[in-house]
Amino acid sequence: MVEQDQCVYWTFLGIPDWFLSRGLGWFPFAVIPQSVVDEAPHGLSSVSVVVFLKFFGTGVHQFNFQTTGVKLRSTNGQLQNLKAILDTIMQDYEAFVKMFCTKGASGVVPCLVCDNVTKGRDVSGSAVLKDIRTAALADCKCHTKETMWKAVDDLAAFAADPDMKKYQFKDHEKARGFYHAPGSLLTNKPLRDVLDPADAIYLDWFHCLLASGGIATFHGNAFVRKMLELPGITLEVLDNFVASVQHCRTVQLPTDILQRVYNSQPDSGWKLQGSDNYLVIVALGAFVTMVLQPAGQLVEHCQCFLLLVTMLDIYYMADGALRFLDLLAASTAQHFTLFVKLYPGAFKPKLHFLHHIPRSMRKKRRNLNTLSAEKYHKWVRSYAKWAKGRHRERHAVHGLLLRHMTELSNPQNYMPIWVVKGSRAPVLTNLMRTLQLIPVDAEVEVKETGVCSARDA
Ligand SMILES: [Zn+2]
Repeated sequence: MVEQDQCVYWTFLGIPDWFLSRGLGWFPFAVIPQSVVDEAPHGLSSVSVVVFLKFFGTGVHQFNFQTTGVKLRSTNGQLQNLKAILDTIMQDYEAFVKMFCTKGASGVVPCLVCDNVTKGRDVSGSAVLKDIRTAALADCKCHTKETMWKAVDDLAAFAADPDMKKYQFKDHEKARGFYHAPGSLLTNKPLRDVLDPADAIYLDWFHCLLASGGIATFHGNAFVRKMLELPGITLEVLDNFVASVQHCRTVQLPTDILQRVYNSQPDSGWKLQGSDNYLVIVALGAFVTMVLQPAGQLVEHCQCFLLLVTMLDIYYMADGALRFLDLLAASTAQHFTLFVKLYPGAFKPKLHFLHHIPRSMRKKRRNLNTLSAEKYHKWVRSYAKWAKGRHRERHAVHGLLLRHMTELSNPQNYMPIWVVKGSRAPVLTNLMRTLQLIPVDAEVEVKETGVCSARDA
């Protein structure tokens, strides 16, 4: 039997991106066995109520980040009171569906952000309702906290109405896109002073694009399928090209990656780890600009694919992406239109969700993703593997916190990192030494990820 756990991490939005991206800026809060989540009346939603109340307690003597705050001693010895609000929830779409008790992608109202975007309904007679396959960002009428709370409160009122027929009640749930779930997160009245659910939603671009079921897995596969129709293009030819592209990572892809992962079924995606998926997409982007475009082949397909590459290029800039938000939003919109036109069968609601991410970035002034925090998962797995029996999750979270505190107290972890390969870039390393970017006697260490850090020799 495979044991599953839910992990909760948190951070301060003021922590700079270079520290967040190392994972150290995310703090482990809890490891919760899936069996415990399943036992809760509304699963993750009920559990999240408990989690949020730990941070923002509503009792008289309870800790509350927003009101009581935390006492911190500054470097000059003075005590300061640090207060914080609950600003953003960043997670995969599926986790939002469970946390907010919505009907999800299979329902009539699949988008968490939009109040008026529907799926599988005839919207031709409506000025307000829009279809998810055609709705542009300008068509979206976004939820506010009031519309979300009204939806769940209306359902509570209908549930209490003795005259309400069961089928009528189901229709109300369907039309609003929420389940009636008393005690769940959105129905918790004390937490309404703390959590603005509409403002807090921040969908994760990594899950929407690169992770399993992400748009890039479908787009990459569909594009390869289209390229295979061209004379002289085979999976071997594409693999040879992909293998010849040098990335600034020491981890190399298998030389027959496309032969391994390509899925010949129409409208299917390939299965590839998110970061490897990125490398394949970038390499195929190079194939487009170096081979297909000069030959004038698959003009629109190439254009659509390069828009995907542009989006990924921007998302991978950490907070540098904030300077390119207009380009990101425009590329997302053009990519949406072309993708729907060229690969209609491969449409997924995630294609629509991508519209909302630049808006979240603009609002929060941060480019967030779950990649960094998920680095902890491997530690959770290793602790959970060795800790058996009852409360194994306690051992996992203790081990995780201990490791985190040790890492936080290590000054090495605050040193800058350069994206160069030390041993293979002696000229650059010497230049960095001359410019005193690294100490003269520092040795340059090549890390697994292909970045290197300087350590005092
Ligand atoms: Zn939407």
